[in-house]
Amino acid sequence: MKLHNTRSRKKESFVPMKKGQVLMYTCGPTVHDYAHIGNFRTFVFQDLLKRWLSRDGYKVKHVMNITDVDERTIERAKRKKVRLADVTEAYEKAFFDDLDALNINRANVYPRASEHIGEMVELSEKLIEKDSAFVEKDGSIYFDITKSHNYGSLSGKRPRDNLRRKTKREDYDEPAHFVLWKPRDEMDGMIYWKTSLGEGRPGWHSECATMALKYLGDSMDIHSGGVDLVFPHHENGKAISEALTGKEFSKYYLHAEHLIIDGQKMSKTLRNHFTLRDILKKGCSPAAVRLILLGTHYRKKLNFTFKKLDASEKKIKRLESFIKMLSGANAKKNSKTLEGDVLKLKRDFEDSLNNDLNPAPALRAFFAFIDKYKNKDISQKDAKRILKTLKELDSVLGIMRA
Ligand SMILES: [Zn+2]
Repeated sequence: MKLHNTRSRKKESFVPMKKGQVLMYTCGPTVHDYAHIGNFRTFVFQDLLKRWLSRDGYKVKHVMNITDVDERTIERAKRKKVRLADVTEAYEKAFFDDLDALNINRANVYPRASEHIGEMVELSEKLIEKDSAFVEKDGSIYFDITKSHNYGSLSGKRPRDNLRRKTKREDYDEPAHFVLWKPRDEMDGMIYWKTSLGEGRPGWHSECATMALKYLGDSMDIHSGGVDLVFPHHENGKAISEALTGKEFSKYYLHAEHLIIDGQKMSKTLRNHFTLRDILKKGCSPAAVRLILLGTHYRKKLNFTFKKLDASEKKIKRLESFIKMLSGANAKKNSKTLEGDVLKLKRDFEDSLNNDLNPAPALRAFFAFIDKYKNKDISQKDAKRILKTLKELDSVLGIMRA
């Protein structure tokens, strides 16, 4: 199987660290609001990846964090004048409901940042000890990227000579020392933790690094997220972890491209910002949404249109009526071509997914097979064989109703 590694910018043969086992960490939702369908594009891609690896015989250990401590969750809680958990628990629940609707298999662990503050403090302390981090006068702790020997190796962004220090905002385009620990300030209101570093809270990059190290150990096989996480988030997580362990943080980095709506970037001001709920309210099935999110290769921008959604809905209906038809199959003769067609379908499916998880040829083969047999008289024996084949492939696609 070949996968495109962001770090090498090439497709590479996938060989995990330990035979038969894959350790994977994917960055989870920030639970300050409902996740939008662009987020779910990434999560459906990761689900496809995981299902394909499992079908290939790998035992996958998957960790996905829940970001419940950051500017946005704190801001929301402050605005509503409620506890942080009052905001985050509700959106976390909504997130899991959405995962179920889209038939996304659960990760093994969903660690919450808020439950690992002690470990994040330790991480900062260890980095100071190793001289990879420094403390500012106000009590902020920064990771010193000049101490990292290969900073920029993932994103290709190299630090300049006149490095800036990052402030509260974490999304600068330019490499800079980044914050590991933020002291309490008036912005945080009542939301802070009392620790040996003083009162404050962790930065996002140290959150993910801490939880990846805790649940997967020093190194993992696959680290994944949306393309906007390559820099600075994944570059910084990698720098933190490698400064601590001296070992490679992740062997492969996989990033999913953006989802755009009718050719435009999703944004609240353009009123084309959709959550899964918004789309399901329009009356389409979750399976059709899943199919559309699956259908475009993860490294290409996915242009989401309602016309495409209609087409996707029709395909799901075609699949469902075919399955219904199979239950009434009673032709006398068995098909002579079926066995050959099943083998070809499986081969096309495998070739396509083994090629950096390219879903389009796999889906084409899947629906072409259905179209070939939907108008034929099928024997009971053949119907069983067909259903078994479809179910087997659907263990990867996840679009059939159980
Ligand atoms: Zn992360």
